[in-house]
Amino acid sequence: MKNKKVKKASKYIFVTGGVLSGVGKGITAASIGAILKAKGFKVSIQKCDPYLNVDAGLLNPVEHGECFVTADGKETDLDLGHYERFLDFETNYFSSVLSGALYRELIEKERSGGFHGKTVQMVPHFTDLVQEKIEKASEGSDIHIVEIGGTVGDYEGLSFIEAIRLFANRVGRENCLYVHVVYVPWINTSKELKTKPAQNALKDLRGFGIIPDVVVCRTEKLAPRSMCEKIAAFSGIPGEAVLNLPDIESVYDVPLNVLKSGVLEILNRFVGTDTEPCMTQWEEFSRLRREKWEKTVKVGLVAKYAGNEDAYICVTEALKAAAAWEKVNLEIVWINAEDLAEDDSKGAKAAWKQVEDADGLVVPGGFGVRGSEGKIRAAEYALENDEPYLGLCLGMQMACVAAARRGGLKKAGSEEFGAGKDENVIYIMSGQEGKESTGGTMRLGNYPAKLTEGSRVAEIYGGLEVIERHRHRYEVNQKFLPEIEKGGLIVTGRSPEGSLVEFVESPSHKFFVATQAHPEFKSRPLNVHPLFREFVRSLK
Ligand code: GLN
Repeated sequence: MKNKKVKKASKYIFVTGGVLSGVGKGITAASIGAILKAKGFKVSIQKCDPYLNVDAGLLNPVEHGECFVTADGKETDLDLGHYERFLDFETNYFSSVLSGALYRELIEKERSGGFHGKTVQMVPHFTDLVQEKIEKASEGSDIHIVEIGGTVGDYEGLSFIEAIRLFANRVGRENCLYVHVVYVPWINTSKELKTKPAQNALKDLRGFGIIPDVVVCRTEKLAPRSMCEKIAAFSGIPGEAVLNLPDIESVYDVPLNVLKSGVLEILNRFVGTDTEPCMTQWEEFSRLRREKWEKTVKVGLVAKYAGNEDAYICVTEALKAAAAWEKVNLEIVWINAEDLAEDDSKGAKAAWKQVEDADGLVVPGGFGVRGSEGKIRAAEYALENDEPYLGLCLGMQMACVAAARRGGLKKAGSEEFGAGKDENVIYIMSGQEGKESTGGTMRLGNYPAKLTEGSRVAEIYGGLEVIERHRHRYEVNQKFLPEIEKGGLIVTGRSPEGSLVEFVESPSHKFFVATQAHPEFKSRPLNVHPLFREFVRSLK
């Protein structure tokens, strides 16, 4: 492990779940990673999901939460965002593996004769491919963590469980650590914790040939030690390997809680060193987050998918972290963009009151016409009333439309919502026409931008060259820059050759900055993105 030249990781940690999904398996996996990182290891992490989708690009954000984009342009689910936040590293194309992509690869190989007349089977072909993807994603790190989506026993996930069992033959059982996260429910009527579902979940896992090295019991409240001992006794696992993780208020306290749960000894044995992990930054962040500050800042999030906060999780996490380090309390006010109408309806009045009461507005990314007029009006309001505004992707596009309308182009709009060529301030990139419902065809991942010297963004970033992640199909139509400028916004960042607008700002405004990119994807709790930090600072 000390040998930095090793290509693949030499140690692997597999995290599976039992009883229920959605009890924090991903956060547990990421927290174990954060602890190992704090011990000085290079850690990578990957999610294997048994969905038949090829990637997460076409999944509905209301149902599945935000679509996260990696630096190299893969559209993934929001777990990868958690990984990046907890480990402060960049996931990549290989960090997310969906069954659909694996089947596609196998079938394409079969169609091109790549199996030389052999039958193609789940075992060994699918399971080998899973293992190859795991090795690939582990490249360059000391320890690689793999989270398997769903719960053990799910029909569609079986081949992944088989693949991680087989993986121990590939690298040696001593180089694999299996962590099983189970839920232990509290039954209120009889006032007791019920361990039977956890016992059954462990029996299922054993049935697939895996005896875990660590069992994490998730409970609502801190459980007596006897609960862990009982599960251990019934499942043939040493008592000290069964840990309890009760619910806590903030996910960012999970790394510290995992550490307290007694996992460190097991991890030390596994990696062969007993250095203390340096968790001071996590401790500091946890302390700042828990503090009640004198000042509260109110951020209005003008959103379309207001029913599911997970749809904007990177944005809200970036704001929360910025507030903690800026030592203010944060109140996020969800403003339904569709309510920001021009009429006197009760809904519109209430929504406009929210806009007025907020200290600043964030207009995040989005797709489709619904709510777009409300976002344009919100941007117009912010421009006219010196209310801080941070526009992210669609949030920048709508700000440009608002400015163009103010600048005299009354019918300014976006081609995405039907604007014709005399008013399409936002228009389709050449080569993108007709691909609206096709997966993986947007401008995705990292792209550089050059900032204007002396601009607000240059000052915020502390330099003139930046790289941000993208996920969009439409662009600012530079033909309409005179109107946009007349309406109060200037372009202060472009793609290096100048053809694409990347940043706009209002020079005389308290804080009006918008970008075609998604800086929220690069914000970390321990290393907040400067745009979010400055935005929150402007609200103080
Ligand atoms: N719908 C817009 C586009 O495709 C904005 C996308 C976004 O906000 N991610 O360009």
